[in-house]
Amino acid sequence: MMNLLKIVYEAGIVGAGGAGFPTHKKLSGEFDTVIVNAAECEPLLESDRCVMRNYAAMIAEALSVIRRETGASRVVIGTKKKYEREIAALRSAFAEAGADFEIFGVSSFYPAGDEQVMIYEITGRTVPPGGIPLALGIVVLNITTVLDIWRALHGVPVTEKLVTVTGEVKRPVILKTPVGTRVTDCIAAAGGTLVDPWMLIKGGPMMGRQFGMSEAEAQTIGKADGGLIVLSPDHALPTFSRKPLKRMINEAKSACIQCSYCTELCPRYLIGHKMRPHRVMRSIATGTNQNDLTDAVLCCECGICELFSCPMRLSPRRINVYVKGILRSSGAKLEDRSIYPEHAKVRDYRRIAQKRFIARLELGKYDHHIDEVVEYTPKTVSIPLKHGVGRPSEPVVSVGDVVNRGDVIASVPFDDVGCVIHASIDGVITCTDGQINITREERTRT
Ligand code: SF4
Ligand code: SF4
Repeated sequence: MMNLLKIVYEAGIVGAGGAGFPTHKKLSGEFDTVIVNAAECEPLLESDRCVMRNYAAMIAEALSVIRRETGASRVVIGTKKKYEREIAALRSAFAEAGADFEIFGVSSFYPAGDEQVMIYEITGRTVPPGGIPLALGIVVLNITTVLDIWRALHGVPVTEKLVTVTGEVKRPVILKTPVGTRVTDCIAAAGGTLVDPWMLIKGGPMMGRQFGMSEAEAQTIGKADGGLIVLSPDHALPTFSRKPLKRMINEAKSACIQCSYCTELCPRYLIGHKMRPHRVMRSIATGTNQNDLTDAVLCCECGICELFSCPMRLSPRRINVYVKGILRSSGAKLEDRSIYPEHAKVRDYRRIAQKRFIARLELGKYDHHIDEVVEYTPKTVSIPLKHGVGRPSEPVVSVGDVVNRGDVIASVPFDDVGCVIHASIDGVITCTDGQINITREERTRT
């Protein structure tokens, strides 16, 4: 087991599904079940499907090693039923490897790929409010993380990403590109934009971060990134997100009709958590019942309440984010950690079909399957020193050093939360201040 953790640490693997938690830390917990998340939580993204289609044998091999080394008794792939071609590829690879890994297909709803929702779908159990899956003896790995583990087992660290580039681009693609590639290079590799001006969502449309054109210039692909969506700044999504916080709070005070639709459709409420956004809105509006405010810490920020449920177009999600910040700085803790199984009784009728959700977000015209994988290697990369949860890595190279792809360029100790970082292209180090820049040139080591 220790050997596997060391291999994963040295390869610099972090969760590829979003938060970028170091995978060696995750695997060091005690668990008997491994759930592989291959449900592509966010609309429009296609990278998980691409991994299932093209790397099924590698997934089977890596999971066999993970099961052997960790002693896990159950391995389940959680994906969407509609991914028939991908499920067939996995089944055939598992049969070839003689592995009895389960494949669990969920219906196509949002947010099927939310870690806690996925656990509920597969096991019928609720992760304790404020807790993590290990509390149930479960570890959840994104399918791309499993592919990264396979590469690590073969001596290859994390240096490249599969990134869905879609939206208002000429040729939507899945780009296979080095970590540190500028997002503007990725957009150019997808044929450029169809609109001008444009804005960018890095990640999925619901939980991704939004950037204007000039801000996007400074953005590069990190280890936890899997999607770039180009939209017109006039699109409903960015327009809605630009609403200032003060206005949202005023709207909560003046326009929330306490219909509680936000709560009734909240996926965390529906797995039995005391997540009641309408109560948070009421507390913000009236300044009473501070206990209700602590519900906000249970919010996974999926955005259903503000972009689907609320008839008044209010923003319970952003209010929750605001309240979470206040609670963190005041040290307030969640007091009621009970699970309410009765919330889940209506769950089957309240899942939101992905198609309907995409239509509501006015993203229907970009909702197409992308088969094409394009390899793209830029002349320069700019690699962040932080790739998710944890502390930034310390550079171990200096300006002028010549590096080859795969060389360690920054590190954190094994026991710290963070990740080792490797050169993603051959070249010369041109900056180590805040990020590591590498420029390709002929003169590299052999
Ligand atoms: S859905 Fe909107 S109006 Fe209804 S309670 Fe929630 S925030 Fe208020
Ligand atoms: S964003 Fe809204 S719907 Fe999603 S978990 Fe938070 S409160 Fe619930």
